Amino acid sequence: MKIQVPVIRKTDVLVIGGTAAACHLASALRRKNRSVFCVTPYTYFGEELCARLDFAPEKLERLNRFGITVWNRNPAGIKQLLDSVLISAGVEYLYQNNPVAPLFDAAGCVRGCLFAGRSGFFAVAAHAVVDASANSVFAPAPARSGRHTVTLNVIGGAAAENFDRAETVGRCDCSGKSLPLVHLEKEYDLADGSIAELSRIDLEMRTLAWAPETLRIADECDFGFRSALPAASPEFPVYPDTADADEVAAAAEANGFGTGWNFAEKGRKYPFDAVSFDTLFRWKECETIPFELNSLPPDAEYDVLVCGGGTGGAPAAISAARAGAKTLCVEKLSIPGGICTAGRIASYWFGNCCGFTEEMDLGVGAMAPADGYVPLKGHSPMERKGAWLTRELFRSGSEVRFNTLCVGAAVQGRKVCGAILAGPWGVTLAAAKAAVDASGNADLVAAAGGPTRPLVEAEPAVQGAGLPPYELDKPCFNTDYLFSCDSDTVDATASFTMAHDKFANHFDVAQILDTRERRRIVGELELQPQDFFAHRRYGDTVVIARSNFDTHGFVLHPMFLLKPAEHQPYYANVPFRALLPKAWEGVLATGLGVSAHRDCMPLIRMQPDVQNQGYAAGLAAATAALEGKGFREIAIRELQRKLVSVKILPETILTEVDSCGGFEDEDTHKELADLFLAPQEAEARLLAKFAASPDLETAELLAFLGNPAGTELLEQTIRETAWDSGWAYRGMGQFGRSASPQDVAIMAYRHTGGDAAPVLEKLKALTPAAEFSHFRAVSLYFSARPCPEAIPELERLLQSEGFRGHAFRTHSDVLDGVRGSVVDTTVRNAQLKELYTAKALKACDPGSRTAAETLRQYREGMQSCYALFAAD
Ligand SMILES: Cc1cc2nc3c(=O)[nH]c(=O)nc-3n(C[C@H](O)[C@H](O)[C@H](O)COP(=O)(O)OP(=O)(O)OC[C@H]3O[C@@H](n4cnc5c(N)ncnc54)[C@H](O)[C@@H]3O)c2cc1C
Repeated sequence: MKIQVPVIRKTDVLVIGGTAAACHLASALRRKNRSVFCVTPYTYFGEELCARLDFAPEKLERLNRFGITVWNRNPAGIKQLLDSVLISAGVEYLYQNNPVAPLFDAAGCVRGCLFAGRSGFFAVAAHAVVDASANSVFAPAPARSGRHTVTLNVIGGAAAENFDRAETVGRCDCSGKSLPLVHLEKEYDLADGSIAELSRIDLEMRTLAWAPETLRIADECDFGFRSALPAASPEFPVYPDTADADEVAAAAEANGFGTGWNFAEKGRKYPFDAVSFDTLFRWKECETIPFELNSLPPDAEYDVLVCGGGTGGAPAAISAARAGAKTLCVEKLSIPGGICTAGRIASYWFGNCCGFTEEMDLGVGAMAPADGYVPLKGHSPMERKGAWLTRELFRSGSEVRFNTLCVGAAVQGRKVCGAILAGPWGVTLAAAKAAVDASGNADLVAAAGGPTRPLVEAEPAVQGAGLPPYELDKPCFNTDYLFSCDSDTVDATASFTMAHDKFANHFDVAQILDTRERRRIVGELELQPQDFFAHRRYGDTVVIARSNFDTHGFVLHPMFLLKPAEHQPYYANVPFRALLPKAWEGVLATGLGVSAHRDCMPLIRMQPDVQNQGYAAGLAAATAALEGKGFREIAIRELQRKLVSVKILPETILTEVDSCGGFEDEDTHKELADLFLAPQEAEARLLAKFAASPDLETAELLAFLGNPAGTELLEQTIRETAWDSGWAYRGMGQFGRSASPQDVAIMAYRHTGGDAAPVLEKLKALTPAAEFSHFRAVSLYFSARPCPEAIPELERLLQSEGFRGHAFRTHSDVLDGVRGSVVDTTVRNAQLKELYTAKALKACDPGSRTAAETLRQYREGMQSCYALFAAD
């Protein structure tokens, strides 16, 4: 498919990759008044040091050129230093995007580069390009066959006996300990140097390296492939990162952007069409250049392709490969396990610890049994869990592409039949008979054009996220200080920048956004909170999860507004249909991307259950691929029988059919569940009840069902009740109310069409310091029912001291938003209050300059969830 690639920046100098030398050059060019834009595949700058754990003194010495005392020479310190150098110089940058191809002008001169990342494909046009990337798209292709020495650095210790050379080359200071830095080398005879071959070697090196003392394996192996760039010229204005700033500045001055931009692509014939994400909302207005995705080079063909090797994806790839399918697991980081390992979350919150989860936990325990590790509690050292998964992936025969992003899909009609993969050795198109979207973000389904729900639908109600520090021997660091969107490279870059600054005095910073809520598929069946209260069962259950409604944030479902969820856990059956995108074939989702209302996702997202769910998805994919069937054609009972045999499901599941009921007396939500399961029937019942004896709860229920019978009672209640104690956005856990009784009455009243006067009175009594939930209630009301009398009151709030200006528009704003606490809520409360109030003002007074300016700052800001709400 030909896509329209947005040109997101036109800059004097584009820097690809981010070595310390490149950062130095970028800041020097800014001092010469050249605009500079940096794009790197990593989540940080300083990759020659941090990605390879190469802390050779002479390399660290180069950091001195910035004239800043580098007080922490570990990765966290280096990453923060380089960010701050670029930010203070005014250099713009983006993390985690891979270079795809040079951008040419009509005369064939290089004028920039095409990139692919979590927001899809984009281009940057430039007068001059500095290539600091490890595997250049500008340099001639290196010789990848013959004998090569592959190296890998490891902290803590390694299985030296598995390598041709192993040497302690330095020490790392972490948590008061001095740990050996071990350099490993192994000789390989490369047959063809294909990406598949290099990936197999990478996986083998990582598997062989692990020893009980291993605390960290470098992000990448070094294959020594970097070949020299051709000499720079006016036609080829690409410089290595060691270039002289004067020279690059002069070239940028002399060269223009040219005209007739193109990517010099060659058409190729595929039995499918390559597609990618719809352009990110923030780039919709940009100039575009056509790019034929079908021109990307072919990769190998697989039975099963797993997008994302995280909590659900690594088990999916293991089960698919164990079942005999030729499997490829594509993971954007260098360790499998996702949030469980890279995300530093290593303890189970509830969960049903059976089946594959039990196998894994016992296996992790057996890898170093002497340290008090308690299997099935999940308190595992994360490197060891990552090592177990790496080893099982290797043993299962699955191929794994680390440091590789799935940035598009191959489709035939409404069937996914492969993916576009952007990795260190190029961007390719891999074919697969069946795919598992284990990105936890429905990336593959969204890229294909399948049905998904975005992170933000009606409101920016995002379950709090974090991005934790990384200490080598500390098991867990749970954080909740952010809202971040996995689909937005700008938002992700801001989140990494904030974390680098926040945790600069630690050893390192995690490389995965610890987001609890992401984009999800719209499945054949979408799970709702009432299903769990109603003990819903299915004929196609593939996992039985167990957790509580740990929603981290505020809830949207009216059931929880009326009766908040408490701490007790529920068993939650997850049917195969919730993994299956509606009306689409060839792909299943697992983990955070499955089809469920965001308020009930916490019930099914705990690690023990996602691991088992991933395993089930992998098995289903292998079955479909090996039997040559669609997912809707595989024998579900047979799949369930296999899951019973590995103890993921109990035998009783084999006789269950779609059914509901079995309420237990202690279920606090049973009446509400009943009502939301069959609202039409409930409405008549409620009306009769309300007619016989009017009460507030029934009036609210009727209002949420769209029935105005209780309008008068609601109006009277709002008028006669003073503002109560509201709810301020709370980090780390959300049990109990996220709206006060008065807020709920106003939110229900909004649906009745009742007069604005009582809400106006409440708005007049609202002070800037009041809790967020009050702002939410009145703002939702006036956004839905605009009223001119509300304008001066909303203006009053927005104009009050310190109320406005909390949007993150630049990296400097992001750094200003850094707070010491790992569960900070001050920033989020201030932003939410400002944004909701401005939205209401805009609705009441479309010409308001205050509202327009406030919303513009959020719309153009770096945080996706706010930008989308502000743009609405
Ligand atoms: C801060 C936080 C705390 C939590 N606390 C607990 C807890 O205490 N106990 C508990 O049991 N659960 C906890 N959870 C929930 C649980 O960890 C998650 O629900 C679960 O890990 C999600 O699994 P997943 O496979 O969907 O996502 P992930 O584990 O994130 O896996 C997705 C993987 O896909 C990769 N990926 C994503 N996109 C692409 C792409 N396009 N191409 C290639 N690779 C890609 C990612 O790098 C990642 O490895 C917590 C979650 C968070 C965020």
